[in-house]
Amino acid sequence: MLLPPEGVVSGFGRPGATDMQVESAVSLKPYNTFGLPAVAQTLVRIASDADVRRVVDDPTFGRAPKFVLGGGSNIVLTRDMPQVVLKVEVRGMRLVEERPDAWIVEAGAGEDWHALVAWTLAQGWPGLENLALIPGTVGAAPVQNIGAYGLELQDRFESLDAVDLVTGRSVTLHPQICAFGYRDSVFKHSLAGRSVITRVRFRLPRPWRPVLGYLDIERKMTETGTAAPSAQQLFDWVCAIRRAKLPDPALIGNAGSFFKNPLVTPEQCRDIIGRDPTVVHYPLPDGTIKLAAGWMIDACGWKGKSVGQAGVYEKQALVLVNRGGAIGSEVMTLARAIQESVYGRFGIRLEPEPVVV
Ligand SMILES: Cc1cc2nc3c(=O)[nH]c(=O)nc-3n(C[C@H](O)[C@H](O)[C@H](O)COP(=O)(O)OP(=O)(O)OC[C@H]3O[C@@H](n4cnc5c(N)ncnc54)[C@H](O)[C@@H]3O)c2cc1C
Repeated sequence: MLLPPEGVVSGFGRPGATDMQVESAVSLKPYNTFGLPAVAQTLVRIASDADVRRVVDDPTFGRAPKFVLGGGSNIVLTRDMPQVVLKVEVRGMRLVEERPDAWIVEAGAGEDWHALVAWTLAQGWPGLENLALIPGTVGAAPVQNIGAYGLELQDRFESLDAVDLVTGRSVTLHPQICAFGYRDSVFKHSLAGRSVITRVRFRLPRPWRPVLGYLDIERKMTETGTAAPSAQQLFDWVCAIRRAKLPDPALIGNAGSFFKNPLVTPEQCRDIIGRDPTVVHYPLPDGTIKLAAGWMIDACGWKGKSVGQAGVYEKQALVLVNRGGAIGSEVMTLARAIQESVYGRFGIRLEPEPVVV
């Protein structure tokens, strides 16, 4: 049980709540940013570790298969869900420690990610600004080690609390156990579907240093003649760049980048350059090379194309969109057709980024 936090606090837990909040036959359409139709037979709202334990100990739900749902911005729903859906709504954000070299901030897994980024900045604890405007919840951020504009969650991660869905035990996990990688973590492998993340702690380094070097950010620096942007400036730029490039899920259903950018060896890259010398690629410090999946999809002529009501976004080929009334199977048929044509032309298998349910 979390002790009443000290310092800057915004409402942890659900004081006095003891009953499980169980709902039946719940439409998940409003709970996924793609706006895909699916019905959850049972949905339980999780506001604390104790709520998870109640589900685990429950004679009806304890042994039933479960699916953990955050903001639904990284999932593709292809069918109704017989699993018990655990909708994570653990709240609260607070400063837990002020160290000479870092601010340690904790947030409930159900908090909105962007709200956390904006709140930490407003409190004078910068460090998350490059990750502004990524949809979804705090608790899902470690699952795929969210990243954008030269920063990944793992660069600011301290630890997290999770409850095991088999034993009901609460554990604190540190970076080594989380095994973060490119859009990857232990929560996509040995702990997939095994635990509910309830709180995440972040280490925001002091003194703050901007994370620069990303092309779009460099462009903003040149345009504005700013050599040393503040954290607020970076936050504003990232928000503006994202708004110009990505469809707002409130207006056009989508799950962000639909495919991961493939990582290849220099030999593989030479082979692909042999097929198309204009292929967009970025050498990484570890010697591998990142290929721009969006560029490859565009090169195969997919931009603006559709299968049923599922389409490829006109402004960014990496994003698949719901043109209105799409169903999950249309999205997946489109995704498979894209994978086949990219494989046929470049010999590369694109891997979907969202979780297909
Ligand atoms: C417009 C748009 C732009 C995006 N841009 C980016 C980007 O720049 N970078 C990036 O990395 N991602 C991006 N995404 C993807 C998405 O925002 C992130 O993956 C986000 O972290 C998903 O959060 P969520 O709460 O919506 O997770 P959900 O979609 O609800 O769940 C995703 C996965 O995490 C699991 N999960 C969720 N919550 C928990 C929990 N508390 N405990 C255990 N498991 C959990 C679910 O079971 C599921 O497997 C974008 C998405 C959209 C729609």
